[in-house]
Amino acid sequence: VKDEGRGAVRFFEAAMDAELQARRQLEHELGGAIARDELRLFYQPIVNARTGEIETFEALIRWQHPERGFVSPAEFIPVAEQADLIGRIGEWVIDTACAAAAAWPQPWRVSVNVSPTQFRQSDVPTVVAAALARHGLAPARLVIEITESVFIQDAAKAVRVLTDLRGLGVRLALDDFGTGYSSLSYLQQFRFDKIKVDQSFVRRLGQHADTLAIVRAIVNLGHNLGLQVTVEGVETAEQLAILRELHCEQMQGYLFARPAPTLPASELELARLRA
Ligand code: C2E
Ligand code: CA
Ligand code: CA
Ligand code: CA
Repeated sequence: VKDEGRGAVRFFEAAMDAELQARRQLEHELGGAIARDELRLFYQPIVNARTGEIETFEALIRWQHPERGFVSPAEFIPVAEQADLIGRIGEWVIDTACAAAAAWPQPWRVSVNVSPTQFRQSDVPTVVAAALARHGLAPARLVIEITESVFIQDAAKAVRVLTDLRGLGVRLALDDFGTGYSSLSYLQQFRFDKIKVDQSFVRRLGQHADTLAIVRAIVNLGHNLGLQVTVEGVETAEQLAILRELHCEQMQGYLFARPAPTLPASELELARLRA
């Protein structure tokens, strides 16, 4: 029995080694991904909830790995954060998104995700200011999305960085709203321009009667604080019909469009005609 136990431990250790090695391998490959031009931004429209017109595109990163295919950001962003690569990757995202948006028709904004570690460790306002200047993008056309976890370690510092970003004239959105810890207290610490209601609520809309009451309360809370509200993850016409009655400003989800590497040509044409 003892031997068997030891065997199991050894097996376990070998499995851990394999996992650690796989992670190191991924870190190593991610380190060279920018230089090898393997990162891509996909863009997903965020539409006006009343008119359906596109107002913003959220930039969503993809890693086009030569062997693994598209690696999801849910998989490699945490690796980037641990391996001290998030600063460089985040800078690439901000720069690439600003370059893209500068070529779009005027009314459209671009919305960029900034991870909590990136927010804490790198000088995001300086990176943003440089990208705006380099590409001649008006600050009001850039939205920065952060999650409330940026407040956890040093809330005072987070507020300072957000205030610096606000000073540049960019817009600030609180992402994944309603999923973290005490969301409400963070709303008192900094006045965001908008909140994004997490898609987990929308997914449960048809399943739990209470979910509609919660989403309605979040939308009303946002409005009472003077914030715009975007609802994420809208996939079905039924969800749309329910959400329409809540009078949120914007919606985003597969029902309207999936993230794509290029903007829809017909929409581009329409926007040019309107501009
Ligand atoms: P997020 O910021 O909450 O982005 C929304 C995610 O939901 C995206 O997944 C998007 O493709 C997906 N989505 C959009 N509409 C629907 C829908 O109707 N149904 C469902 N089921 N999903 C929908 P994605 O692109 O895989 O990104 C996952 C997360 O990775 C993002 O969540 C964000 O936290 C992070 N991420 C993505 N791009 C970046 C980036 O450039 N930088 C950083 N730091 N994080 C990023
Ligand atoms: Ca987001
Ligand atoms: Ca989100
Ligand atoms: Ca999320």
